Amino acid sequence: MHPCLTCGACCTMYRVGFHWSEAEPELGGVVPRELTEVLDGHRLAMKGTWAKTPRCIALDAEIGTYSRCSIHPVRPSVCRDVPASWEHGAPSPQCDKARAAYGLPVLTAADWPVVQAPGSDAAPANEPVAPELDHDDDPSPPTRPPLAA
Ligand code: SF4
Ligand code: SF4
Repeated sequence: MHPCLTCGACCTMYRVGFHWSEAEPELGGVVPRELTEVLDGHRLAMKGTWAKTPRCIALDAEIGTYSRCSIHPVRPSVCRDVPASWEHGAPSPQCDKARAAYGLPVLTAADWPVVQAPGSDAAPANEPVAPELDHDDDPSPPTRPPLAA
């Protein structure tokens, strides 16, 4: 089983911010707008992730037991961009920090039946529930909102 399906930690650890166009159907956006909130002049955030104790509104999980993203096919790009550690042959600090926060062991190469080389463009072995984290590897939840642009 894909490790993310029994985890979900990162969906409760980071602010999930992304460009507003990802929720704009006229521009090809597919993220459900009603599950987002305005982060600043250029970005939206998944509801629940811009909080002192983040938890994405789209997450259906008991962390460490089972996890699924209820909007997996239309999740934000940042959720697709953050891999689980060693899924593609390299560690993921965001994954490691999220799992450690729940006392879960960090993933290693041994958790993957086939480890791909870094930079490989091969398709993932499975679809993770990996959040983006606003391209910010600080796992601390925001203590105050950023200023709008
Ligand atoms: S990317 Fe890492 S922290 Fe996130 S759900 Fe998968 S295993 Fe858990
Ligand atoms: S993958 Fe992204 S959209 Fe889905 S539950 Fe996790 S943070 Fe939310």
